[in-house]
Amino acid sequence: MKNLKHMDILKLDRRSFLKLAASMGAATFLGTYKADIVRALELSGTNVVWLEGADCCGCTESFLNATYPDVIQAITKLSVHIGYHETLMMQQGVFVDGRLVGTSELNSELALEEYMTGEKPLDVLVIEGAIADGPEGSGMYTTVGGNPFKEMVQRCAAKASYVVAFGMCATYGGIPAARGSVTDNMGAQFLQTTKGGTLGADYTSGAGLPVVNIPGCPAHPDWIMLTLAAIILGKGGLIELDRYNRPTAFFPPDNTIHENCPKRGFYDLGQLATDFGEYEKCLWKLGCKAPYTHADCAIRKWNNQLNMCTQAGSPCIGCVQPGFPDSTSPFYVEMEKVPTLVGVDINTIAKAAIGAAAIGVGAHAVRRIAMKEE
Ligand code: SF4
Ligand code: SF4
Repeated sequence: MKNLKHMDILKLDRRSFLKLAASMGAATFLGTYKADIVRALELSGTNVVWLEGADCCGCTESFLNATYPDVIQAITKLSVHIGYHETLMMQQGVFVDGRLVGTSELNSELALEEYMTGEKPLDVLVIEGAIADGPEGSGMYTTVGGNPFKEMVQRCAAKASYVVAFGMCATYGGIPAARGSVTDNMGAQFLQTTKGGTLGADYTSGAGLPVVNIPGCPAHPDWIMLTLAAIILGKGGLIELDRYNRPTAFFPPDNTIHENCPKRGFYDLGQLATDFGEYEKCLWKLGCKAPYTHADCAIRKWNNQLNMCTQAGSPCIGCVQPGFPDSTSPFYVEMEKVPTLVGVDINTIAKAAIGAAAIGVGAHAVRRIAMKEE
């Protein structure tokens, strides 16, 4: 990336930048700073490689739902060069006379090789999907074109200025690493709540950062767009991470979704749904995990700032919390009946919350207990 220091937006200090990223949706943020960002992106020609391992592609679909810039704008107008993306790229490894085409324009394996060898600069590596380690550390349970996905991740990460793990699978292992998995899947730098993962606890990218974890199943398109914008604008080094490597701007350690839930008024009044479809009630008794889920869903909203899970009548399932889905399941069971939840004493929370809700006052008790991650 070229030097972009003359850009006005770069004069923002760390606090202001984080505040902006936290308080604005991507559409507003990117719209407000459109001129700077477009100019920065045009100058930067940022190379992005997006790898997909053990995943359902849902995070790519979420990314495709971004509104401004949408993916087409990002690729074609804003000079973000997505050099490799298994779902979006044009290259197919086309055969001519029985042989693979020998140019990176048509052959995806050659295109990727150019980034892995450093022939082309790799500014941002995005990882989607868990990374198989088995059998016996070979990584052969997940291959792309016959190559272990694990090796692709390691080789790209060795050359990347920034590495962003996008979605629960790539961050902490997610569903592919859940109880019963036989493929030794893991996240890029974590396995569930333990640091390590495929790249190891001590890994740092070329810019000196660990893997930036953007969890969620799927992750919100704003979270990746704003993270990419920060990196492209030269603010990547200012991304403040929590102990699970999540940007605190989107996953505030001192705040949970419960704080700003649209159904919070029902909770405070002790009006708790006991069956699905009781729309004008709180979803606590139906298993809502939002009181100890750290994300800005209730402020940022989903589907183009339209709604969110609890607003649509579905209890939060804690899909951004390390250890998901094992640590927050069964999803639709009251919290005190769930055996383990990451960093939280269930019995304490359940008693405080149920007590508070039952009498209709003092609901902040649960907030005080649950909002702080251990
Ligand atoms: S995190 Fe969830 S939505 Fe994203 S790829 Fe994994 S399973 Fe799919
Ligand atoms: S328990 Fe869930 S549904 Fe009820 S107010 Fe909190 S976040 Fe909203």
